[in-house]
Amino acid sequence: MEINLVSDTVTKPTPEMMQFMFKAQVGDDVYKQDPTVNELEARVAKMFGVEAALFFPSGTMANQTAIKLLTNPGDELIADKYAHIYNFEAGGVAFNSGVTCNLLDGDRGMITASQVLSAINPPDFYHSPLTTLVCVENTTNKGGGACYDLEELKKIRMVCDKYNLKFHLDGARLFNAMVAKHQRPDQFGELFHTISICLSKGLGAPIGSILLSDHATIKRALRIRKIFGGGMRQSGFLAAAGIFALENNIGRLTEDHRRARELGRALTAKSWVKTVEPIETNIVIFSVRDGLTERQVIDKLNERSIAISALGKGKLRLVTHLDYREVMHSYVLETLSKLDF
Ligand SMILES: *Cc1c(COP(=O)(O)O)cnc(C)c1O
Repeated sequence: MEINLVSDTVTKPTPEMMQFMFKAQVGDDVYKQDPTVNELEARVAKMFGVEAALFFPSGTMANQTAIKLLTNPGDELIADKYAHIYNFEAGGVAFNSGVTCNLLDGDRGMITASQVLSAINPPDFYHSPLTTLVCVENTTNKGGGACYDLEELKKIRMVCDKYNLKFHLDGARLFNAMVAKHQRPDQFGELFHTISICLSKGLGAPIGSILLSDHATIKRALRIRKIFGGGMRQSGFLAAAGIFALENNIGRLTEDHRRARELGRALTAKSWVKTVEPIETNIVIFSVRDGLTERQVIDKLNERSIAISALGKGKLRLVTHLDYREVMHSYVLETLSKLDF
């Protein structure tokens, strides 16, 4: 039994999902003639109460497309220092859009309206880059799965409106946030100019992300996706996996969250663990006591068939997901309770 807690992207399609994919009606999506892709896009747009949606091969491409659409070269965007768009998209913000990042020192990857307000460059001062976009992440990845209160997001939107800024949500794990905080998709749909969501994380699809916005913006997004090489042909097979994931795998995210909390408690009890960060969703980040290395912890867990990841600076991460089942969970809890250095 190999137990992979490295990421929630490691899930494989279940036989039921595969069956559903096999049966999909497909066409050429570059001509917008794939009925299953069209159905997925229409469904997700409706779910979020927005006009339109576009299917992407990856969350990175969906985010990069949004940033390209909402900025001009030379502009600056505002985001948290942990932001995926800055740390884990290979410098795409600079490469694709010619934009710089003004990174804020937020709380577990989350920023506030007042922080945003004080980071906006005066538009008439032509020596500094023009601030045109604010990006937030929900849940935060590097911030340990933390999720926003809607009130703070509304306040950020008010600042954006006042200073003529666009507002993008990197919602790779938005469904985890909504389940944890009892929020609805339409509450996010009305707050942002663009939203990206991933179907290939907690929801368990093999591939796929969605960009949401208004008709005019999605029409422009189609061109940018083509430029980025993201036009796909019979992608209905993949979209079908997304439809299956939305129909079957949202509610069960609470199980991932419970298991993450239980892992956190087991770690808190260990003398070799220095701190466990607050756990709101499916990500557990902890640090080890001085003198103990991440490598030592990883090696010892590997010997017991458990894989987790190192984040550097003495921090480690576990992520629970669809393929991490109860039997595995019991085994991991028991293993942790016996593990000492
Ligand atoms: C995973 C992730 C993405 C997109 O990742 P892809 O691997 O390109 O699909 C974007 N933002 C966050 C916060 C993520 O965790």
